[in-house]
Amino acid sequence: MSSEAITAAPAGAAVFCADIGGSFIKFGVSHRAGEVKEFGKVPTPTASWQEFVATFQRLMTQFGADFPAETPLALSTAGLVSPQTGELLATNIPAFTGRALAADLSLELQRPVTAANDADCFVLAEAYAGYAQNQPVVAGIILGTGVGGGLVVNGQLVRGHGGVTGEWGHGAITRTELTLDERIFLIPRLACGCGQVGCLDTLGGARGMERLHQYLHQQTCTSQQVVEAWQQGQAASTLTVNAWLQLVAEPLALLVNILGPSKIVVGGGLANATALITALDMQVRTGTLHHYAEQLVITGKFAGNGGMIGASVLGRLNPRP
Ligand SMILES: [Zn+2]
Repeated sequence: MSSEAITAAPAGAAVFCADIGGSFIKFGVSHRAGEVKEFGKVPTPTASWQEFVATFQRLMTQFGADFPAETPLALSTAGLVSPQTGELLATNIPAFTGRALAADLSLELQRPVTAANDADCFVLAEAYAGYAQNQPVVAGIILGTGVGGGLVVNGQLVRGHGGVTGEWGHGAITRTELTLDERIFLIPRLACGCGQVGCLDTLGGARGMERLHQYLHQQTCTSQQVVEAWQQGQAASTLTVNAWLQLVAEPLALLVNILGPSKIVVGGGLANATALITALDMQVRTGTLHHYAEQLVITGKFAGNGGMIGASVLGRLNPRP
């Protein structure tokens, strides 16, 4: 399945890969999908498009001399890339404002450039080289600071109208209360960065778990502290994690019923808490129409470095008509 979708670059042809974060740009070269040799990283010029372009021109001069001039560049970036306009939405990098990132950079560098957001690149990495290889429908979810995701079907990244496919974190939690230890708790409805109110994103990621803990116990803890205390059986953190699991598992089970994924791979900071992901998996599988006999929700192989690996796949994907 995978090899059929990858035909844009000949086997063995190089693809430059970059992972653009708010602080650093990682840069490297790939000789086959799923493998990247990293050259290093440079600070991201966030304020100025001209400085951003100049940074890539320097990287090409420094590392590109041994490669053909037409060697493509594939980018994993924070923010959402619109498939209609190529513009970046919800990005914290002002240099990109009003820019069609891939098309504009392609003109400047005189080589093909493709771009996708970091959640999409993570799912591509898992579908081609990670724990969801050769699966027809792969959903990737990001449980990082907030909640994100992406979708790969038959080896192709589904960008969808507006480029927001798989962004299951933005939409109101429909449940209004939780019953925990025979007590009823109203679920706080918080303003979300997307402009809506009550989104899963506000309570379902690492910051969300911390907000829940603060709300339930008036205690300020990091998500890591909450998860560790939960694993040790501490009562307050157990209540918080049980609340978090209900809030996240219900919409995730709905996502499963809609998409029919064979695997859900998890990236982002909370993915490293494998006991939490196992508990989430068990809870999700109680809410799916199809009975999944094996673990469905799993920590991804590239939970921490999906951007570069995903870019190595992205740079070889056939553009869809
Ligand atoms: Zn939102």
